Amino acid sequence: MTDSLATGLRCIDCGATQPLGYTLQCPKCAGLLELCYDAGALQRRGPSAFTGGGLWRYAPVLPIADPAHRVSLGEGQTPLLECPRLGAQLGVKRLLVKFEGSNPTGTVKDRTSATAVGAALQFGFGATSVVSSGNAGSSIAAYSARAGLRSLIFCYERASAPKMLHMAATASDLVIYKGVYDDLIALWDRLAEERLFFDCGASRNPYKHEGKKTIAYEIAEQMGWRAPDVVVAPVAVGETFIAAHRGFAEMERLGFIPKRPLMAAAQAARANAITKAWRDKTAIAPLKIGYTVAEGLAAGNPGRKGDWVLRILRETGGVAGQAEDEEILEAQKMLASSEGIWAGPTGSASLAVLARMLADKQVDPASTICVIVSETGLKTEAPAPSRDAIAFDEASLRRLVLEKLAAGAPARK
Ligand SMILES: [Zn+2]
Repeated sequence: MTDSLATGLRCIDCGATQPLGYTLQCPKCAGLLELCYDAGALQRRGPSAFTGGGLWRYAPVLPIADPAHRVSLGEGQTPLLECPRLGAQLGVKRLLVKFEGSNPTGTVKDRTSATAVGAALQFGFGATSVVSSGNAGSSIAAYSARAGLRSLIFCYERASAPKMLHMAATASDLVIYKGVYDDLIALWDRLAEERLFFDCGASRNPYKHEGKKTIAYEIAEQMGWRAPDVVVAPVAVGETFIAAHRGFAEMERLGFIPKRPLMAAAQAARANAITKAWRDKTAIAPLKIGYTVAEGLAAGNPGRKGDWVLRILRETGGVAGQAEDEEILEAQKMLASSEGIWAGPTGSASLAVLARMLADKQVDPASTICVIVSETGLKTEAPAPSRDAIAFDEASLRRLVLEKLAAGAPARK
């Protein structure tokens, strides 16, 4: 018994179709593959096809057939937060934050880990693997452990200690690597092709990628089956951006929502290959990049997914932007102080880019804008704020409290 309505795979370049199998790229042209669904059945059933909670509520539009393979740690159903104070600060009429930090390992990646590890079970693999800057490693390791699979996690040596600790605790095999992500990924891809392990990387696997589509379904359902006017999504290689776009486009085709949003791609200025190509109207030129505080966005060569992002931007009139590390850290503070949302730098980058886009008049401040904040701040590593400790007696404590309260509430607009 299955309620997955996936019917096959289709090449995004030549359109050739494939049956549902463990196929990572088009056998004809090596293009990336996307999943296809039974549109007729979905149209007939409408959104009532979705039942239950969490990510697997959207099982009909996910490619995992057997409910026994639907591994879960309670991912999805993350809050869509109205942010009036932050919106007022930015001059936006209605600002929403889709906060992915409340996922089980603290990032949006749990959505893809659920379907990746589910697909590993579906196709009978005993081991998973991923090359990670930190977040993906913890997430794939956690979901693999949950499913009883071996996980070979390759992690960047500069990942934060909290991320390393999390990976070391959940991965069956954690390997720390030197050098940058882009260099290792080419070598690792070859081993993935030999099927030594299930490919949990972000570059090709359509089953993994599909999990993130649920972010669009959730946003739409949380808004009463409508989409925001603009969705700002972070872009490293483009997984979240592409999947969110696919979700909204699919819902528009099916008649679940009246109109899909304008998609805005948010990159770190230090890893801006896609934004640069979009701005200069050229193809993507891979960049040799150094460190950015937005660790999860540190991809200099976004590969074929980067091309896909660029195609979506050009075909749909989307926009791309970037933010400097200082702006990203500023956005992190704004999210925390104005709305109480504690996100890491990677998660705050999309807000920093939105601020830039508003200043550059790339997006309309009178529209409803949803920013995808992709991770919690709880795994961020930074020195504690320097502030002296104070010893109190009762009178001095009372004096201080009264003095603070006299200053009134923080500015509300
Ligand atoms: Zn093809």
